[in-house]
Amino acid sequence: MDEMQGKVALITGASSGIGRATALKFASKGASVALVARRAEKLAEVVETIEAQGGRAKAIVADVTRPAEIERVVRETVETFGGIDVLVNAAGIIASGTIETTSLEAWDQMMDVNLRGPFYLIQCAMPYLIERKGNVVNVSSVTGLRAFPGILAYCVSKAALDQLTHCVALEVADKGVRVNAVNPGVVVTNLHRAGGMTEEEYAAFLEHSKTTHPLGRVGRPEEVAELIFFLASPKAGWITGVSCPIDGGRSQTCAR
Ligand code: NDP
Repeated sequence: MDEMQGKVALITGASSGIGRATALKFASKGASVALVARRAEKLAEVVETIEAQGGRAKAIVADVTRPAEIERVVRETVETFGGIDVLVNAAGIIASGTIETTSLEAWDQMMDVNLRGPFYLIQCAMPYLIERKGNVVNVSSVTGLRAFPGILAYCVSKAALDQLTHCVALEVADKGVRVNAVNPGVVVTNLHRAGGMTEEEYAAFLEHSKTTHPLGRVGRPEEVAELIFFLASPKAGWITGVSCPIDGGRSQTCAR
């Protein structure tokens, strides 16, 4: 029951989808959770749900593209809960665009949320992670491992997030800190609709996704949360520097 009792998890993107499911999972196992996103009302709902189940949670409204807000997130987490054992970087965005259609602004925005945010959060949290021999789990994507046309900046941001994971893992291994990534296939969340898909397009995308994932279905946020939890737990104590697919086999397939 209490595998994370006394531990502190800082989770970004906790207002929705994979980050929200991860927050609920960690809290249910005894962790105190600091929850980061921009939408205060969505975070408040997650905090309420966790507290109703007897857990401990604090909402920290912040935008991961703003360095001063990331510094505040780390400061408030440590002030509230006394330290940081686990950092989960789940905040992310997606947008369509090819080499011919991606504007510099769209490119920068993707990199700011999906790559620069995790970089600076890891950097600011690292002294505390070293103190407690903690660990980081970055939420990457199958698009970090394989190339897909039409979501250029997203693919590049996730490939870079994977390499950030691997490099930092080597840099802090001798300090007892582990750094890993999960690489989901299509998971039912708000990501694609927030990225511009209509309800009809999203329904068609999910239907088509049954054929692009060998296990014949898309994923649930709770399934990804289970893997994040495992990688963050002592059971994964000898795992660092990995990008771990959780994608119904998609990363093993060829395009079709
Ligand atoms: P959701 O859209 O459901 O959740 C995204 C989360 O990121 C929200 O909590 C959102 O909160 C937060 N967020 C976005 N921008 C910012 C920002 N600038 N500052 C702070 N928080 C921000 O999508 P998912 O749960 O699917 O996405 C979680 C992660 O999983 C992402 O990194 C995504 O790339 C990755 N992923 C998702 C897949 C999928 O098919 N769903 C597949 C592979 C990877 P708010 O809007 O309140 O700020």
